[in-house]
Amino acid sequence: MNLSDNDLLRYSRHILLPAIDIGGQAAIGQARVLVVGLGGLGSPVALYLAAAGIGELLLADDDRVDTSNLQRQIIHGEASIGQAKVASAAAQIQALNPAVRTRQLACRLADATLMDAVTDADLVVDCSDNFGTRQALNRACWERQKPLVSGAAIRWEGQITSFDARQSTSPCYACLYPDLPEEGLTCSESGVISPLVGIIGSYQALEALKIITGAGHNLVGRLQLFDGLTASWREFKLPKDQHCTVCQAPRV
Ligand SMILES: [Zn+2]
Repeated sequence: MNLSDNDLLRYSRHILLPAIDIGGQAAIGQARVLVVGLGGLGSPVALYLAAAGIGELLLADDDRVDTSNLQRQIIHGEASIGQAKVASAAAQIQALNPAVRTRQLACRLADATLMDAVTDADLVVDCSDNFGTRQALNRACWERQKPLVSGAAIRWEGQITSFDARQSTSPCYACLYPDLPEEGLTCSESGVISPLVGIIGSYQALEALKIITGAGHNLVGRLQLFDGLTASWREFKLPKDQHCTVCQAPRV
């Protein structure tokens, strides 16, 4: 892919970075990323990937914009209340960077729709808010060998890690949470401080760009936790579970 003169100008601050350069920017421009959930995390993920010049965003969410979303879901505005989140997000992405293609999946991804979306993507960013979707997404990514950037945020606490099924040593989401737990608390029940989703979501966008370009070291095998109240990060090694039913199961 050749970058136009306008691209060279628009993405010049990327191209100045030796770990990105023209080749990395071209890779970003060719990448197709599936963003699952256009809420608090999905908002900065989609906005930063669009600003960064991603080729195509597959936007998946079955929800509509509600007044209580606007405190943190910054891709949506007052005028979008009542609209499908994927439509509201696609309009904002178009306004930010018209070169970015978008595809709207206004459904809760499951079974065939989930597998089709993951198959079509080069990389998946999990911005969902429920364990069922997270586990199903993890299984689909492992089956289709797609890298998965996983983030979560609630109250004052956030966490982030990445999984890469293309690497035999990579753990998966089920190594971290082996069994389908009871449905966890959501932000609507527990609350969440507004910029926390910006911190974790922006970090997910950074991870996605690093995995796409191969720049630096990513978070595969490392889990980072952020506590906004104490202003502290902690990091844990995340080993592969040798008995994991997802990433250790024989491939068919
Ligand atoms: Zn696993």
